[in-house]
Amino acid sequence: MRQKIAAGNWKMNTNIQDGITLAKTLNDFAKNFNNNGKGIIIAPPFTHLYSILQQVDTNKIFVSAQNCGAWEKGAYTGEVSAEMLNSIGIKYSIIGHSERRQYFNETNETLYTKVKLCLKNSITPIFCIGEKLSERESNVHFEVIKKQLNQGLFELSPEDFSKIIIAYEPIWAIGTGKTASPQQAQEIHNFIRKLISDKYGVTISNETTILYGGSCNAANAKELFSQPDVDGGLVGGASLKANEFIEIIKAL
Ligand code: PEP
Repeated sequence: MRQKIAAGNWKMNTNIQDGITLAKTLNDFAKNFNNNGKGIIIAPPFTHLYSILQQVDTNKIFVSAQNCGAWEKGAYTGEVSAEMLNSIGIKYSIIGHSERRQYFNETNETLYTKVKLCLKNSITPIFCIGEKLSERESNVHFEVIKKQLNQGLFELSPEDFSKIIIAYEPIWAIGTGKTASPQQAQEIHNFIRKLISDKYGVTISNETTILYGGSCNAANAKELFSQPDVDGGLVGGASLKANEFIEIIKAL
């Protein structure tokens, strides 16, 4: 179901005490937020997930993982499986963040495996796609996006695909302070929606939630989110400051 969402990716930030304080502040805000179908998601580090789930109203704030393992279980030291996440009550996981692709060599094929494992364990993947600066400058960004979708998601059945959230995150905009203009974001979101429509039909395409990510903040969120194909944001740095993230939620 298509939904307006503000999702905060905390990355490898906050210790448990600071993480709980941040989650509680957001929870206090969410209590009185007339969400009207709008979703608030936070993605703290693995170590925080269970404690934070106990501290927030999980009907108002959804807690997401930032990643999950590419195997069901077994001898994969340091990995956390989708089944483990499901067992503590996690409902979402970011999959294929560009930092995972860049620093951990995650390929579209590996990410497809992770997506399948999430779905098998009732976890909604927030699947990240986006081009590098060099790819945009050489005008191959549309091809890059198409390939990421074809290889990472488009083997899914229509039923499974309908459960996915997509986050378009141009890599050149992540953590750089350089935001895509609302027009640039709309152009790619519309392109993504068209690719989904070609593959799965217009109904599924119109029902897919597509978030924008990349230096989204309180000052630019409103204009980005008002684009017809932008359904909200996946927010990194600005989601670590409660007041700023609250302003972003209000911009939905
Ligand atoms: C992100 O990490 O998903 C992200 C969009 O980061 P930032 O908002 O800091 O650019």
